[in-house]
Amino acid sequence: MLRKALIVLLSVFCLTRAASAVTAVPVLMFHRVCDAPKYPEEISTAQLEALFNFLWKSGWAPASVSDLAAGRLDEVVPRGKKPVVLTIDDGHPSVIYSAAQHPALKLNNRKSFLTVLCETCRAHRLEPRATAFISESGGYFGGRERLSSALARIHNSAPNFEAGYHTRAHKLMKSMTPAQFRAALVSQREQFRSLGVLKSIAPVLAYPYGIAPAFGPQSILKELGFTAAVLAFAGNGEQKFSRIPRCRYDGTLKSDRFLIPRTSIGARGYAFRKKGSFVIDPIADFKKDTAFPDVTYYVSKGKR
Ligand SMILES: [Zn+2]
Repeated sequence: MLRKALIVLLSVFCLTRAASAVTAVPVLMFHRVCDAPKYPEEISTAQLEALFNFLWKSGWAPASVSDLAAGRLDEVVPRGKKPVVLTIDDGHPSVIYSAAQHPALKLNNRKSFLTVLCETCRAHRLEPRATAFISESGGYFGGRERLSSALARIHNSAPNFEAGYHTRAHKLMKSMTPAQFRAALVSQREQFRSLGVLKSIAPVLAYPYGIAPAFGPQSILKELGFTAAVLAFAGNGEQKFSRIPRCRYDGTLKSDRFLIPRTSIGARGYAFRKKGSFVIDPIADFKKDTAFPDVTYYVSKGKR
């Protein structure tokens, strides 16, 4: 009797698990490359190379936020590979320059994010795809006056490495009114237009500090022509949420495309209620954040 009850219980458990299974795409968030990382936003050249080599060897392939939002992962990711979306916030110069390539900027990185991505992708016959969300206060890759040449530099080595919106002033949007939110987006769009780069910017947004306005910005984003917006971490980007970020995907993006959660990847981590930061291993961190029994990862059907 007990045995029977146990079997019934077990099958109910399994059925519930099956019903709640999620097909997901991990969306990773990076910031800066620094070979002596002190902050959770930094990762060293060696760690980035090791992480990408591990990912491409383990069957993952890079994609951009626009690839995800447009539902074109099957077109851009080779058949049988699992897409992982790469995002880099702020537009720090180390995204496109090494310390040696631009001594005036006083960087501390052997290679840029772009170079590491291109080199590791080439070695695994993959196309470098990613999204850099840029902010004027975050640096615009070394300055507003250099933005156009910086975007050309990216385009020359990786045509599918896109740049998107991260606002000019990088102000927290959580308590913004709809008018303030709209003004922040329009201001960056008009600046891109006056700098002559609007055509090279993808209509995708990363909320500053990863937190969306509380009023619910979806209708304004749609009206302004945005196709996706990303958070940092789970929930609304606030680290008090311990849930693991998941981006539901099953051929088309099923979750809200204006509230896409991301996983932060760096050499150090923050933890809620824990003071300061602590050293982490980016590869171990990625494995931990993607190993859940109720999550399976989208596999490209490879349409080309
Ligand atoms: Zn930022």
